[in-house]
This record gives sequence, structure tokens and C-alpha cells, in this order.
Amino acid sequence: MNTVTEKPLRSTQQWQAADAAHFLHPFTDFQSLAKKGSRIITRADNIYLWDSEGHKILDAMSGLWCVNVGYGQRALVDAASRQMAELPFYNAFFQTATPPAIELAELLASVTPPQFQHVFFSGSGSEGNDTVVRMVRRYWDVLGQPQRQVVISRINAYHGSTMAGASLGGMSGMHAQGGLPIPGITHIEQPHWWEHGRKLGLDREGFGLMAAGWLEQKILEIGADKVAAFIGEPVQGAGGVIVPPDSYWPEIQRICDKYGILLVSDEVICGFGRTGQWFGCETVGSRPDLMTFAKGVTSGYVPLGGVMVGERVAKVLIEQGGEFAHGYTYSGHPVACAVALANIRLIQQLKLVEHVRDDVGPYLAEQFRGLAEHPLVGEAQTCGLMGALQLVKDKASGTPFPAELEFGMVCRGHCFANGLIMRAVGDRMIIAPPLVITRAQVDEMVALIRRCLDLALADAQRAGWLA
Ligand SMILES: *Cc1c(COP(=O)(O)O)cnc(C)c1O
Repeated sequence: MNTVTEKPLRSTQQWQAADAAHFLHPFTDFQSLAKKGSRIITRADNIYLWDSEGHKILDAMSGLWCVNVGYGQRALVDAASRQMAELPFYNAFFQTATPPAIELAELLASVTPPQFQHVFFSGSGSEGNDTVVRMVRRYWDVLGQPQRQVVISRINAYHGSTMAGASLGGMSGMHAQGGLPIPGITHIEQPHWWEHGRKLGLDREGFGLMAAGWLEQKILEIGADKVAAFIGEPVQGAGGVIVPPDSYWPEIQRICDKYGILLVSDEVICGFGRTGQWFGCETVGSRPDLMTFAKGVTSGYVPLGGVMVGERVAKVLIEQGGEFAHGYTYSGHPVACAVALANIRLIQQLKLVEHVRDDVGPYLAEQFRGLAEHPLVGEAQTCGLMGALQLVKDKASGTPFPAELEFGMVCRGHCFANGLIMRAVGDRMIIAPPLVITRAQVDEMVALIRRCLDLALADAQRAGWLA
């Protein structure tokens, strides 16, 4: 591993110039980043990153919601290097399998809810959701109901960036580029109390039932015999850490059961301990037929994703389906699976799920109740180790800042300058730190957040934005 004293390979300016010349970054305005220059991240340990200028940064986003066990875990590194030396690749197409893929399938069946005994591997969460669309349509085909094609999702959902993933997602900016969504995918409004319920004067739980009711309305509008599945993140992540009312998911489950519609839980963020249970569906009280996973399955050390296939679907595909004409070169990649095995075993050994559920999760919630007192914060929410602060211009009325101010980005600028990675989704400031975070580190993170809120407040006062 690099150390700070080691001479860097290139200067920051040299890295930035080469980056701007050749590297098109995801979800980025290429030209404006090229002008500004990327921050070059060179190493990491535990919950901290270091950039090429030697700055230490607290990573309150776990990379991109994935580094659940934190950086620098030797067990994952060793698992990868051992597997690379032993068998770096073999596929699972030609009636073959590798020990790490088999062992991981077995371990996943044991840590997921009991309806899941089978897994289909992919290379990422987006690919996992492509598999979901193929699989639910195939399931209804095999059952002699090929007209059941439609998958219902939600506005402002994030399900990835492939054609199917971005179509399932409900991000209008993504749909606008590339002619999405693809046919047979439709969206209902999200269960976002602050955005919708509050304005209607509803309490959270009353709003949760109403928001779930939008699913039933949509099913009736389309015709239940045409609907294949409903997909949702237990807690929306990229949409802004939107924690649904407790009443929402049980009502969604009831509606799916009533019409026989498959329920898909996208656990790419919520899986592997993030919410204080192994999977988010266990926290919110749903019983999905399929579950997409990625990110936390390897803590992001190497790419891996997949779909847990519940027995309702697996039985039909196995007993009546014949060949399922779908798969990826890297489905069950032995190195990725070896790292996932080491990662899940480490989560078990360190009791990280319990750590989130009983210790740092409740502690973060307590600290966020403190942040809720800040003049800029309209609402503070957490679920396990995910949190959101809704920034407002006027706390009493909950009036937002005008969108064109991009006030969330103002606040994020202070985070960036003060050694804290926190993300802005509109005016929602969000975190999802590594699950290994300690109480003392939560204090450190919350102190940084408070400092950045104070700096943003001073900006707003100086600019007269609060008037
Ligand atoms: C990140 C994410 C995906 C996409 O995963 P990739 O590995 O980026 O393809 C899908 N669903 C959710 C909920 C995600 O957060």
C-alpha cells in the first residue's frame, strides 16, 4: 500500500490533465469537470480517504454506498489474491461451476430470508435489474400468462443505468436521454412524506397508506392481468434517502398479494446490514419474491451483483422453464465470489448487522435528532446507517430554497472543503457511512456536518437568501 511519505507517481495537476484528456466520468458534465479538475483519491483506510494532496477525508458515503466493511480489510484482499492465483476465471455457462460461486450461493441462501434458496449472479446492480425484468416476464410466460409484462416502479427510484435499470428507475433526467423508459415499464409517485404528504396535511402513516394505494390504482388502470411485478428500494437511496412511513411496505405487500403480482426488493443499497437487518425488506416488513443485490455484497472491493430468486419463481423456472436464455460472462466470477464470501464472513465475525441495529444506528438517529434543531434543517431522517437532512429556507413553514440556488450544492461545497464526503440530492444532504463506524467517529462526522451547515447558513445570511 502507498504511504503518505512515498513519492507520488505524478503530481495532482498531471493526473488531472490526463484525466481530462481521456476519462469520461459517469453522471458528469464532461466539459465543466475538465475545467475544474477531478479530485484524485489515492488511498483509503477504515472510514477515511486521502487525496493526492495528502488531505484526509471522512467518507460518509462508503464510496458509493458500498464499502460496508470499511477500507483496508486484509481478509478481502487475501481472498482475492488467493483466488486469482488458484483460478482467476472460469464461466458457469458450460455445465460448469467454481467452488467460490457455489459456496457463495449457499451462504447467500443462509443470510437472506427463508424464501430465498437460489441466486442468479450478475456483475452489477444494473445488470441484476436487467435480469429481474427478463426473469419476471419469463416466469409469467412459463405460467401461460405472456400478457403479464408490465413492471411498476416509482418516480425518483434508482435501479441502475443500463437500458432496463434506467427504465425501472424513475429519474426524469435519465429518461430524457436515450428514449427511456423501454416499453412495459411504468411509474407511480414515491412515498416521500416531506414532498407530498406534508403539503396535503397528512400524518406520515396516513400518507404511507395513501402512497401504497397509488399502486392499487395503477394496477386497476392497467389491468391486473397485465402486471408482472412491482419493484422498489426498501429505503430510496440515490433519490435522497427517503425513509418511507412504516405503514407503506406492509400495505404494498398486501396489494401485491391481492393481485398475485411479484414483489421485487432492490436491495443494492439496503442489503448487507445497511438498515440494521441483513436486508432492508426485513426492516420495512415486506416478503419479496425477488431481491436485487450488489454494492455491499463485496463491500465494493470488486464488482459483483445478482438476484436472489424466491421459491415461488425458482420452482416454476426450474420445473417448467427449460433453458433460461440469459446470462453474463461474469455470472459467478470466482474472484468476485471469493471476495464476497470473505466480506460476508467478516460482517458475521464483526457482528456488523447487530452493531448497526443496536449501537451505531440508534446513536446516529439520536445525533440526527440534534441536527434537526439546526435552523437550516426542515426534517432529519435516518434508517440504520443511512441519513438525510432536508434543507429549508424557513424552518417554521418548511419553505424550500429556490431550486436555481442549488443550495444543497453550496452545503456540499463546504463538506468538500472541510474533509467530509456527504452528498447533495437537490436540497437533501445524505450520508451512508461504512458500517464499521464507531460512536466516536459518528461524533466526528456529526461535528463536521454541523460545521458545514453553519457555514452554509452564514452564506445564506450574507447573500440574503433567508429573507
Ligand atoms: C447503485 C444501485 C443500482 C445499480 O447498481 P450498479 O452496480 O451501479 O449497476 C441499482 N439499484 C440501486 C438501489 C442502487 O443504489
